[in-house]
Amino acid sequence: MKQINLNNLFSKKERNFSDDEIFDIAVVGAGVVGCAIFKEFCQNGAKTVLVEKANDILDGASKGNSSILHTGFDAPPESLELECVKNGHEEYLKLKDKLKLPYLNTEALVVAWSDEQLGKLDAILKKGFSNGVSELEIISGSAVLKREQNLSKNAKGAIVVKGESLIDLWTAPLAYVKLGVENGGKLAFSHEVQGGNFNGDYWELETSNKTIKAKTVINAAGLFGDIVEQIKGDVDFKIIPRKGQFIIFDQSAYNLINSIILPVPTKITKGVVVTKTPFGNILVGPTAEDQESRIESITKSETLKMLQNKAFEILPALKNHKIIATFAGLRPASDKAHYRVKINEEKNWITAGGIRSTGLTSALGLAQHIFKLNDTKYDKKEQDSKLKITNITEFAPRDYQSSGYEKIVCHCEHVTKREIENALTDEVGAGNLDGLKRRTRATMGRCQGFNCLSAIAEICENVKSK
Ligand SMILES: Cc1cc2nc3c(=O)[nH]c(=O)nc-3n(C[C@H](O)[C@H](O)[C@H](O)COP(=O)(O)OP(=O)(O)OC[C@H]3O[C@@H](n4cnc5c(N)ncnc54)[C@H](O)[C@@H]3O)c2cc1C
Repeated sequence: MKQINLNNLFSKKERNFSDDEIFDIAVVGAGVVGCAIFKEFCQNGAKTVLVEKANDILDGASKGNSSILHTGFDAPPESLELECVKNGHEEYLKLKDKLKLPYLNTEALVVAWSDEQLGKLDAILKKGFSNGVSELEIISGSAVLKREQNLSKNAKGAIVVKGESLIDLWTAPLAYVKLGVENGGKLAFSHEVQGGNFNGDYWELETSNKTIKAKTVINAAGLFGDIVEQIKGDVDFKIIPRKGQFIIFDQSAYNLINSIILPVPTKITKGVVVTKTPFGNILVGPTAEDQESRIESITKSETLKMLQNKAFEILPALKNHKIIATFAGLRPASDKAHYRVKINEEKNWITAGGIRSTGLTSALGLAQHIFKLNDTKYDKKEQDSKLKITNITEFAPRDYQSSGYEKIVCHCEHVTKREIENALTDEVGAGNLDGLKRRTRATMGRCQGFNCLSAIAEICENVKSK
C-alpha cells in the first residue's frame, strides 16, 4: 500500500518580503508569547517579522496547556509575572469583545480535601487580596457541593476565584498573528535561527532558510530560549523543561463540573487540576516533571494511572466515562522561578525567556511590557480590524450549526469541509496536520483521525492543486 506523508499535502509558506528588507523588529519564536509580541509591535507601527523554525505557529510549549486565563491570585507577589498576568488577562477581555474570541467564565474553586488544607485557605485568600485580586471568597463544604453536585463528598471548603476562566489556547495566538499581519507584519516560517551578527545598526540573523535583517531582535524561543540567547553572547539562564502530563475524558463527561477545580498547592507542586476543555471534554492534569529533553513529551502509563485515580477521587462520576486521549506538554521553566525578561541596549536584543506556566494568560501583558522596554516610537497606523475569527470551542455556536457548510468531514468533532478549506487557504493558513487540527479540531476526537484522515487528505490535495 502506498504511504502518504500527510504533511506534504500542505503548501510551503513563501516569504513575501525581499532579502534587502531591514525590519525594525525580528521576533524569534511563534509560541503564544512571540505571537503576542508580534501583534503589539505591528499594531504600534514597527516593521516586524515573526521568525519561526516550524512551518506553523505553536510548535513548542504553547501547543498543549490547560487553557486557563488566570487572575494572578496565586502568582508570586510583586513579580513581573503577576503584573503581566493581570494586564494580559485584562487585555484579553478587551480583545475578545472586539474580535469575538472564545471565553467562558467558569470561575475556579480551590478545594480543600482535608482539615490541614482547610487551614491553608486563609493564607491563600490573603495572598490573593495582596496580589490585587479582590473577587475571592471562602465557602463551606456544603456550599461547594451545592455548586458542584458531582464532586466527592469529602470537600471541606473552598475559595471561589471569580475571574478564573477558560479561553482557546490555539485560536487566541492565531488571532494575535492575524492582527499582526493585518497591520503589515511579515511571517518567516521554516526559518530556524542558527546564528547572527550585530553590526552596530542591525542584526543579520542566519537562518536555515535565508538571512533576516532587523534592528532589534526579541528572543521568544521558549524551550530553546537559552540556545537562541547564545547568539547575543552572554547567557544568564538555563531552560529546564518541565513536563506536564494530562488525561482527557470523553465529551460525555463535559457537564459533570461547572468550575475549574483547583487543589490547595503544596510547596512542591500546584497539584492536579480538573477542568472543562474549550473543546467539550474534561481535562485532568498536569504533572510537573523536570527533564533534560526539550522535545520529548511522551506520557507514562504509571503517571496516567495516578492521574486517573486522582480524577476518580475528586470527581467519582468520571468512572462512568472513557478516557479518549492523553498528552504531555513542556513548560519552558528555567533555573530560576521568575520570568527572564530583559533588554541589552548595546546589542539591541530583548529576551523574553522562562515563561513557565502562565504564558497563555500573560502573553498580551508581557508584549506591552516589552514594547515599553524597547522605548522606540514608530509611525503608528493601526486600523480597525476586519478580522473574522472562527470559533471552534463549545463556548459559542460552531460552523456546523450554521448553513452552507456543504458536509461534515470529521464526525467526532463536527468539523465541516468549509472550515477545513478556510483553515488551509487563510492568510495564516495551516502549515501541517497539527496546525489544521489546531484551527479546526479535525482528528482530535474519539477516533483520533481514523475515520476522517483520507477525506482530509483529499481536501488538502484539491486546495493545493488550485
Ligand atoms: C502542561 C502545561 C499547562 C499549562 N497551563 C497553562 C494555563 O492553563 N494557562 C496559562 O496561562 N499558561 C499555561 N501554561 C504555560 C504556557 O503554555 C507557556 O507559558 C507558554 O506556552 C510559553 O510560550 P512561549 O511562546 O514562551 O514558548 P513556546 O511555545 O515554546 O514558543 C517558542 C517558539 O520558538 C520556536 N523556536 C525555538 N527555537 C527557534 C529558533 N532557533 N528559530 C526559530 N524559532 C525557534 C519554537 O518552535 C516555538 O514555536 C501551561 C504550560 C504547560 C506545559
